[in-house]
Amino acid sequence: MQTRSFRLDESRIPTEWYNIQADLPGPLPPTLHPVTLQPAGPADLAPLFPMEVIRQEVSTERYIAIPPEVREVYKLWRPTPLVRATRLEKALDTPAHIYYKNEGVSPAGSHKPNTAVAQAFYNKAQGVKRISTETGAGQWGSSLAMACNFFGLECKVYMVKVSYQQKPYRRSLMQLWGASVTPSPSTETAAGRSILAENPDSNGSLGMAISEAVEVAAQNEDTKYSLGSVLNHVLMHQTVIGQEAMEQMQMAGEEPDVVIGCVGGGSNFGGIAFPFMRRVLKEGATTRFVAVEPKACPSMTRGVYAYDYGDTARMAPVVKMYTLGHTFVPAGIHAGGLRYHGMAPLLSALARDGYVESVAYHQNPVFEAAVMFARTEGIVPAPETAHAIKAAIDEALRCKATGEAKVILFNFSGHGHFDMAAYDAYLAGNLTDTEYTDEQLSRSLARLPDVGGAGQ
Ligand SMILES: *Cc1c(COP(=O)(O)O)cnc(C)c1O
Repeated sequence: MQTRSFRLDESRIPTEWYNIQADLPGPLPPTLHPVTLQPAGPADLAPLFPMEVIRQEVSTERYIAIPPEVREVYKLWRPTPLVRATRLEKALDTPAHIYYKNEGVSPAGSHKPNTAVAQAFYNKAQGVKRISTETGAGQWGSSLAMACNFFGLECKVYMVKVSYQQKPYRRSLMQLWGASVTPSPSTETAAGRSILAENPDSNGSLGMAISEAVEVAAQNEDTKYSLGSVLNHVLMHQTVIGQEAMEQMQMAGEEPDVVIGCVGGGSNFGGIAFPFMRRVLKEGATTRFVAVEPKACPSMTRGVYAYDYGDTARMAPVVKMYTLGHTFVPAGIHAGGLRYHGMAPLLSALARDGYVESVAYHQNPVFEAAVMFARTEGIVPAPETAHAIKAAIDEALRCKATGEAKVILFNFSGHGHFDMAAYDAYLAGNLTDTEYTDEQLSRSLARLPDVGGAGQ
């Protein structure tokens, strides 16, 4: 009988994170200070992040040891299973072999605890009392709430207002793990108040919520800020996914021809892709990498590679990335975790150099793929994850047309048990597909910072 699930025991949880900064074709452009637009040093980031996190952010060491306390928490759900989607293959009648790495088995239901636990640990070790953050769909907020709870830290979450209303149970989950949750934009911060003054009915966006969380950390000695995606250290923490997957693909006796992941800020994609990417950068492997995004927030497929602010209120560091502009407010699609205007600088640089392809889909075909996955493999995917599933299905259908038995690996970033309202809307035919005109996109792109000669 065909083996479906490839499992590793606890001892195979990786002991190091893989830092792709050691193997990039060239160094990353420097991070700039949001006010001076000059290269930012550790002292500029110290009000926001603990020193070890800052060190990791700029490190070019290839491997960084995972603290035993962090591995101990990882044991609650890692190593995660790698599964061959044989029932999906059969339904598609494809010669392709489809594998998925199931990060949905974590207590919060996604890959995000992989970095939340690490960040909470480093904050605790430095004596920090409270962490502030933003959350879109609530996946990141709930992951950080859980991690803070394990390490005895307070957790303050600004949740994008549209998600706060659409996803009340993610809010409950955060509160159950002890976090305090506020819909954003709020009147608690200067950033929130100025957004509300301009538009009292604002739905909120990740960029706005980041501004609020950063402000709280910058103004309180005992509080630091934590980001669930985009930054170099976050993508590095997620490489436990790809390292385990490499070992599991070996157990399966196969090599992926293509590695697929959905992209919001790029962390689950970087997590599964980078350990495989190392072999492309260093050993001449020819693996393809496909990043999948929504057409309603098309940073990679329609954005520009440029310096931009990480947030709407221009308080977060300025980084070089694929961006739609920090003032871009995406439509309220159900894949809330993919509604970020920018993209991880590491992933952006690799895409610009041709190592990563990107593709964008509307939400209706994405939900159609999600339903097919649920009906064949049984698991209900998060709407974000369904973007990767849609791309894997399209790749498998191309294999059917050409007769190629390609090996496809995608990251199953999370389950959709808290997204049933979105599935209801899809099944009732109530989801709308949003696509922007060039003119609409050029409006927010016209507001990129003028960095002059800095860091070019
Ligand atoms: C947050 C989230 C994403 C998108 O974030 P990345 O940093 O791009 O990984 C994707 N899938 C799920 C389930 C999420 O919770």
